[in-house]
Amino acid sequence: MFVNIQERGKKQSKLLRQAFEQNKLAHSYLFVDANEIQALNTAYWLACLFNCSGTEKPDGTCQNCRQIISGNHPDVLLVKPEGKQNLGIDQVRLLKEELAKSPVQSNVRFFIINEAQKLTLPAANALLNLLEEPIAPVVTILITNNTDQILPTIRSRTQIINFTNNEKEKGKSAELLANGFSPSEVDSLEDTAKLDKKTRYFYQEMLEHNSLSLVSAHQLAEMAKSKSEQNYILFLLKKWAQAELNSSNQEIGARMLKYLLEIDKMQYSNVNFRNLLDFLALQWKR
Ligand SMILES: [Zn+2]
Repeated sequence: MFVNIQERGKKQSKLLRQAFEQNKLAHSYLFVDANEIQALNTAYWLACLFNCSGTEKPDGTCQNCRQIISGNHPDVLLVKPEGKQNLGIDQVRLLKEELAKSPVQSNVRFFIINEAQKLTLPAANALLNLLEEPIAPVVTILITNNTDQILPTIRSRTQIINFTNNEKEKGKSAELLANGFSPSEVDSLEDTAKLDKKTRYFYQEMLEHNSLSLVSAHQLAEMAKSKSEQNYILFLLKKWAQAELNSSNQEIGARMLKYLLEIDKMQYSNVNFRNLLDFLALQWKR
C-alpha cells in the first residue's frame, strides 16, 4: 500500500511528511482527486505516519498501522455516503460527539470524509466550526473529486492538496514512454506547458498557411534547446497529424506525416533543429 503512495503521490506525501515533521499539520485538509482512491490512500497513510510506532514511519506493519489500514483504529474515523446520495448532518453530528470524548489510543484524531461533494448544506454548515476551531486535537481530511461542488466557506477553511494534475502528468509520462522516450527524458520534460502552447500555435499556423509559422518555427527552435525537448515537439506534431488521419482531414494528416518522416531522416544527418522546423513550415506553405 505505501510503496504505491510513495510512487504515485510523491509530491503530496512529501509535503505532508514535511508538515508532520515540523509539527505543522493543518486542522483540516481538502484532498482533490479525480478518482478519490489515491487521496483516500494518502489520508490513511498520513494517519499511519502520525501513529506509527516503528522506526521507518509509516511502516504499515506495526499494530497501529495495521489497525488503521484495516479500518479498526478507534481514533481514525472514516465517514462516507455508504451508497446513499448524500452525506447528511447525522454523520457530521456523530463526528462531533466522538470529538467530545477523549481519544482512545492516540493524542490526535483523524476524521476522513470521503466524497465530500455529497455533503448536504446543513451537514456542510455543521462541519464549519470543526474545520476552523476544533474543541479537541483533530485532523479532518475531506476528499472530493470536484472542488466546484464544495462550499467556498469549507474550501477557505481547509488546506487544499491536489492529486488531479498528478494523474494528468502520469498519463503524459506513460504516453511518452510508450513512444520511445527514455525515463530520464520524460523526467526532463516535467513542465511542457509553454512548449505545448507554442507547438500548437505553430501547427495551427501551418494549417492556415499563415506566414507567422516561420516566425514560430524560429521561436520554437529557440525554446527547445535540449534533444528531448526537440523530440517532444516532433512527437506532438506527429500525434496531431495522426489524429487528423482519423478525422475528416485525412489529406492534411497524410501530408503532414510525410514531411515529418522526411524530417526524421534529416535528423540522422545532423541537420540542426531550426532548419528542420523551417523545412516543415516552408514545405507546408508551398
Ligand atoms: Zn507503523
